[in-house]
Amino acid sequence: MSFEFATATRILFGEGTAASLPELARAFGDHPLVVTGASPERVASVVSTFSAERFAVSGEPTVELVREGVRRVRRTNRDLVISIGGGSAIDAGKAIAAIATNGDEPLDFLEVVGKNRTIANAPLPFIAVPTTAGTGSEVTRNAVLASTEHGVKASLRSPFMLPRIALVDPQLTYGLPPAITAFTGLDALTQLIEPYVSARANPLVDGICVEGIGLAAGALRRVYHDGADRAARHDMALASLFGGLALANAGLGVVHGFASPLGGSWNAPHGALCAALLPHGMAANIAALRARALQHPALERYSTIARLLTGRSDAVAEDGVAWVRSLCAELNIPPLRQWGIAEADLPDVVEKAAQASSMKANPLQLTHEELLAVATAAW
Ligand SMILES: [Zn+2]
Repeated sequence: MSFEFATATRILFGEGTAASLPELARAFGDHPLVVTGASPERVASVVSTFSAERFAVSGEPTVELVREGVRRVRRTNRDLVISIGGGSAIDAGKAIAAIATNGDEPLDFLEVVGKNRTIANAPLPFIAVPTTAGTGSEVTRNAVLASTEHGVKASLRSPFMLPRIALVDPQLTYGLPPAITAFTGLDALTQLIEPYVSARANPLVDGICVEGIGLAAGALRRVYHDGADRAARHDMALASLFGGLALANAGLGVVHGFASPLGGSWNAPHGALCAALLPHGMAANIAALRARALQHPALERYSTIARLLTGRSDAVAEDGVAWVRSLCAELNIPPLRQWGIAEADLPDVVEKAAQASSMKANPLQLTHEELLAVATAAW
């Protein structure tokens, strides 16, 4: 067996660690661009420690937004990029830091729909401070951008893009409202389940996933019903970090394959899409494995997932699906149609999902009919 596990990010985790940000940042530069999300007031205490150029991101990051950020970096001579926010702010900052030293046009470097050029120069130093517990983007080497002209989301990807520092402070998630807590938390769970059954799974990732799935299983309901539950917030921040490390090293699968075209064409939070799709993607994979790949190791892995989620030693793979289904109901996860997606759109979504980079790591190839069934069930 051989595998690779890469991370060059210095990870600092713990309650109160965000206070060390100004000191850590000074080691990289004196003129940061600080990228925040749509609600920068929630992190005002951290942001206000900088007399920095601010750049706010509302909604999921787009190619246009990154262009604008790069112009701002150049115009104001920034030497460092710091993102303090959710996955959108982190991916935007990561992309801005990378493009700023490599060219002008994000599409030149974008996978799938762009020219897929290599990021050849080291990006500006980039520090990620997540304020949600979901994407794990603080430890991944890609930034997901929506290209509105192509109607998909695709990645800028390079080992150079790993953040220099990931500062994960669970306290920054205490104020998250329940809906965002649910969407981001289910994204974290998806990003632990998909790498664990991935075609690229490896033993180091396995350990991270098993630990992370257990943490998320114990904390997701608690953190949704009581956002002040500090132990549950701590566990979700850790689960999210683990999910980022796992997906960066073992890939994802069918759920994220769908999240790419859906997020590119409709204005819906990434986590909400993953949450709506997760039980159906799991069910489709398990059914396909039982039908044509009974000896596939992913099938036993789905049983392990079921045992971790339910806490029952006799749980079988399908029990894990039922657990996730009931979790989604309890956390009020809306179906896909709530985001303006029409049933007539689904065949086109399936075509694009089949081409998405995440789909390549799914444990087995699903047919067009199976993919359409997943989308329809989640709709
Ligand atoms: Zn995700």
